[in-house]
Amino acid sequence: MWDAIVIGAGPSGSVTAYLLAKKGYKTLILDMKDFPRYKSCGGGVTWRAYNLLRELGIKLRSPEAYHKEVVIRGFGEEIKVRSDEEFAVATLDRRKLDKELLDEAIAQGAEFRKEKVSGVISKEDRVEVIGSGFSSRYVIGADGAYSITAISSGIRNCWRNDDIIFAIEGRAPLYDELTFIVDASPSGYGWIFPRGEDSNAGVGGISSKSREVIKAFEEFSKRYKVEKVGNWIIPTGGHDKQIAKGRVLLVGDAAGLADPLTGEGLYYAFKSALECSKSLESEDPALSYSENMGNVMEELRLKRKARNIIVPRMDFFFKMFVSYPEIARRYMLTSIGRLDFKEFWRWGILRIPKAMMRRASKVLKESL
Ligand SMILES: Cc1cc2nc3c(=O)[nH]c(=O)nc-3n(C[C@H](O)[C@H](O)[C@H](O)COP(=O)(O)OP(=O)(O)OC[C@H]3O[C@@H](n4cnc5c(N)ncnc54)[C@H](O)[C@@H]3O)c2cc1C
Repeated sequence: MWDAIVIGAGPSGSVTAYLLAKKGYKTLILDMKDFPRYKSCGGGVTWRAYNLLRELGIKLRSPEAYHKEVVIRGFGEEIKVRSDEEFAVATLDRRKLDKELLDEAIAQGAEFRKEKVSGVISKEDRVEVIGSGFSSRYVIGADGAYSITAISSGIRNCWRNDDIIFAIEGRAPLYDELTFIVDASPSGYGWIFPRGEDSNAGVGGISSKSREVIKAFEEFSKRYKVEKVGNWIIPTGGHDKQIAKGRVLLVGDAAGLADPLTGEGLYYAFKSALECSKSLESEDPALSYSENMGNVMEELRLKRKARNIIVPRMDFFFKMFVSYPEIARRYMLTSIGRLDFKEFWRWGILRIPKAMMRRASKVLKESL
């Protein structure tokens, strides 16, 4: 019997397997695909995600470019924000990142097998992986947005429409600046992430408005010369669903942990891997994991609330953002992990009247 079976060798699964194998757990990692394999993603790794991995002992080799400055554009305005850290966002090809992380797990002693899992069955002292003959003391569901582990273990049912972002990804020429385009999609945004020889570019939005996202991508692709590569869903945090039960724990997209405002999933994939691996040492791993993830879940709930307020009024909020650059700078600090989002939100709400005054005086000056 294995100590831990990790289902899914994406970033959340491989980092969990890496940490468990490092602690001496007999760890098996299963994925239905051979690696390297394609995964639809913008390939943007924020500084805090990169740095968290570094703290765990993984110094990433796969980034192809490091961007210190981020451009945010839309509604005829533009703002540039510069990171005080080594960089704000590193960009890479997910084929290379995922292979690199799986290799790290294997180097620590985890064993990898190609296997499509159709479900798990929980017993008192172990969990069985249906049809494979494998059983383990614990199973980690790292099998992504449509996690079969989550459903078959009874941890949660399917996502609701407002839990999910629908995103379309493509290839574009090599642009100079890493750019977010906030008016590219009515319920989300567009991105251009330059990397080695080209740029990853796409648009995302709320899944119930997927037709709008498809239409937005058509216009975006003409404007920025983007060739479609794929589309997928991103399950976002801020929901009230469980993330663990008994001997089964979910990490990354399987647990629905991406940032509701930006769709950033990699930081939360690594963070959940870390908390999950620590929890297995406790008497009641499911309880301990859910408790240890409490702060993260709270942050994601607040981000979801912020999204529901900001995104439908993006024009208004972005223009304020531009009139009051300190808002943009502080938001950048949250995404590189230097400022708590709750603190930023409290501070930002109080600045709205001032930002509105600045905006009004700018408009007045321009019209005179
Ligand atoms: C278009 C798009 C753009 C994005 N851009 C960014 C970005 O720039 N930055 C960022 O931080 N996040 C981004 N995200 C989110 C990010 O891609 C995810 O949050 C991240 O991949 C989650 O990692 P994971 O390991 O949990 O799941 P995944 O990466 O989805 O890995 C799941 C693994 O499980 C395997 N699997 C699934 N089912 C089974 C099964 N039944 N049996 C065996 N194996 C199985 C799959 O083959 C896969 O390898 C983006 C997402 C999309 C869709």
